[in-house]
Amino acid sequence: MTAFDLSVVPKDVFGICDKLNAAGRRGWVVGGCVRDSLLGKAVADWDVATDARPEELMKLFPKAIPTGLQHGTVTLVVRGHHYEVTTLRGETTYSDGRRPDAVHFVDDITADLARRDFTINAIAVDPTTGAVIDPFGGQKDLAARLIRAVGKAVERFGEDGLRVLRAARFSATLEFDLDRETFDAIAPTLETFKKVSSERVRDEWVKTMKAKKPSRAFEVMRETGILDVTCPELMEGVGMAQNRWHTYDVWRHGMECMDACVGDPVLRIAALLHDVGKPRSRAFSEKTNDWTFYDHDKIGAEIALPILTRLRFSNDERERIVALVRHHLFHYDGWSDAAVRRWIQRVGKHRIEDLYALNEADLRGKGTFADADLGPLLALRGHVEKVLAEGAALSTRDLAVNGKVLMSELGLAPGRILGEILDHLLEAVTNDPAANRREALLDLARAFVAARAS
Ligand code: ATP
Ligand code: MG
Repeated sequence: MTAFDLSVVPKDVFGICDKLNAAGRRGWVVGGCVRDSLLGKAVADWDVATDARPEELMKLFPKAIPTGLQHGTVTLVVRGHHYEVTTLRGETTYSDGRRPDAVHFVDDITADLARRDFTINAIAVDPTTGAVIDPFGGQKDLAARLIRAVGKAVERFGEDGLRVLRAARFSATLEFDLDRETFDAIAPTLETFKKVSSERVRDEWVKTMKAKKPSRAFEVMRETGILDVTCPELMEGVGMAQNRWHTYDVWRHGMECMDACVGDPVLRIAALLHDVGKPRSRAFSEKTNDWTFYDHDKIGAEIALPILTRLRFSNDERERIVALVRHHLFHYDGWSDAAVRRWIQRVGKHRIEDLYALNEADLRGKGTFADADLGPLLALRGHVEKVLAEGAALSTRDLAVNGKVLMSELGLAPGRILGEILDHLLEAVTNDPAANRREALLDLARAFVAARAS
């Protein structure tokens, strides 16, 4: 048995285990927290396993929240921190490929570790003694940086379809390889994977995006067939050559762009999908003797929407990703002020920072990146800042008149005409910000109405 650095274990966890010991029970820290502390990483959640049964836990810790009593889990809140305490469970059958048919509690920590997914997640530590319980060689696999299923991989993946996706995710977040047998067990168990709910797939995608290089997981998904199940649209770009400016095929460029994208998980998903419209828009141009991808931004947005709906992203996330795919393409070459204002209106002021980040990642993901390539983007940034500082009108709400004023001054009744006038005024103000004054706008509005009537 190896020593475990107990100094990283929070005091509260010792307190929980001491209390269990005083009642004649035991407590172990187990799972991700042990794995991550053995890797020298910071630990977010400390999970405790115990041979005390749930009803006993509720008596020992009267303030425990019964967050998952049917699986034997209670949550303890100690000084604002949450700790999950779970009764030891044994192996069980999974007839639906998603959930165990029954939960049965055991007294033996080794039996509990045996039902866990990977050896590196099946290590327990008794913090009161420092003893490490590692029946499946988890520490050896941590040292070798390998993800290996506990027991026979084909059987374990055949029980619970989520595990194959967790394997892919951990390969990226930990920067580990998959052990050969574990890797080879994914393709034959995809029928079970197909039963995994879309929400859980989405959660795994989002967690994957916290890796330095999420592409590591997506390459595993591509090679094993996971992606044929969850996102065949992305598979269309595999091996598809691009125009002469690109080093990578459509698929690899998506990977490089996602890896280079600095931002939150949702933004990185936009990077993953930004060129999803390329395969269906590709055409060969005899004139340039090269491939073209006309409208791939528009087509991509249309393809991204059903993908995101399928994966149950929230309305806000969906809207954000689709807008980014739709607007990812821009080439600033010294636009006029009016063109910059029009661009801001089109993409939405709240999307600008996202678009900068995505554009930079797109450039960095081409395989030919040099710092000078960022020049146009920096220039656009400066130009946008200037235009915004001048207080440009970006929507009809920024105009010096509103519908009510138009109605009273022009004697108009409520109706569609008001919206049309306001759009016309915004267009005028976009071209000439000096026109954004009440009297000037009313003159323009009168002229517009007169022209409509004639
Ligand atoms: P992270 O919290 O960083 O995602 P983790 O390993 O802690 O990683 P959790 O989902 O919090 O993952 O699960 C805690 C532990 O429960 C795991 O370490 C593993 O031992 C076990 N576990 C989780 N999901 C499964 C599963 N689908 N099949 C078997 N064991 C699992
Ligand atoms: Mg965890």
